[in-house]
Amino acid sequence: MHTPTLRRSARAGLALAASACLLASCQNPDNRPAEETSATTPEASASHSPTSSEPTTAEATETSATESEGPRATAEGHVVVLSTGGTIASTHDKTGAVVPTVTGSKLVEPLSGAFDKDKLTLEVKDIAKLDSSAMTLDDTDTIITAVNKELQRDDVDGVVVTHGTDSMEETAIAVDTFQDSEKPVALTGAMRPFDDPDPDGPDNLALAVKTVTDPANEGRGTFIAFADRVIPARGAFKSDTSKADGFANNNGKKQPQRPKALKYEPLGNTRVDIIAAYPGAPADLIQRSLDSGAEGIVIEGMGAGNIGDELAQAAQAAAKKVPVVLTTRVDHGPVEGIYGGAGGGATLADAGVISSGTLRAPQARMLLAAAITTGTDAEDLFAHAE
Ligand code: ASP
Repeated sequence: MHTPTLRRSARAGLALAASACLLASCQNPDNRPAEETSATTPEASASHSPTSSEPTTAEATETSATESEGPRATAEGHVVVLSTGGTIASTHDKTGAVVPTVTGSKLVEPLSGAFDKDKLTLEVKDIAKLDSSAMTLDDTDTIITAVNKELQRDDVDGVVVTHGTDSMEETAIAVDTFQDSEKPVALTGAMRPFDDPDPDGPDNLALAVKTVTDPANEGRGTFIAFADRVIPARGAFKSDTSKADGFANNNGKKQPQRPKALKYEPLGNTRVDIIAAYPGAPADLIQRSLDSGAEGIVIEGMGAGNIGDELAQAAQAAAKKVPVVLTTRVDHGPVEGIYGGAGGGATLADAGVISSGTLRAPQARMLLAAAITTGTDAEDLFAHAE
């Protein structure tokens, strides 16, 4: 039986698909099958090139690229782009619905003139073609495994993952948690589809490439590079359903603490449920989850991390059997054990419920799943999110 505790705050008294490769830009005219690679050097100019004001180092460090860039950006090295689907790779079907159809090779085509082809190699692999809301933990495992495989290559300097925005924050923290490499990783995507007259994917992809080739980002883990912002994976979340600038960061200007990388174990068989603790939420939400096989529970509380009395009784009982992590439905600020009463954060802390720190439910779930599958003490892992 584990004995987790939520630390009281100071205020508490207070499917793998095809693979294609290219140099500097991309073509896959022969529709090559999975795992086959090719290299081409087309001369066409990019329709979207990175702007000189784009930051490429994590915004939490309050630094940004200062070099002045002409039409061709200064990224150098060998970058692997892993394409997984999402809006960035989507087009409209006959009914007008948006679905992922586009290969990674096509995604990087607009970047052909954006970088110096003598200095930058882009190698593209298609590993999935999914809307990210349809991803399972098995898909997350596929991505983590693919990223780590590329990071281990001596000839690779960084990895970019193109991904749907809906669950990008989950994949980002999962990759970061198992990233045992100094080489940077960036996830990126788009809010407007590939066939939009003004797609945002090319600029986002260019920013991601610059992010993983920026030496200042070495040793800093995984980022979300999106809409001119480079956000550390930990604490990143989708903050707007429709704006192009759709991601925010819950760490303010602080660089998040990253725990030592966990030795990878598949997440796929681990069930962690998220339970929303709305006012009056019944206790059986937790009991049913445990009865269905949940090995860990994330409770999305209110405010600084408080829940109703009935759910609190169940949470306290559950915390004696499985790790229970408390987060909040509020966008910004830490989860803190301040309040008393059955469901107050301070009471839950005393009962062994673990604070998610600054992480919100989607990322807390991934971190808890990682703790469970690797046999890591969940409280230790979450201590880094404070
Ligand atoms: N539903 C899409 C996805 O997550 C949304 C996007 O990519 O922006 O795959």
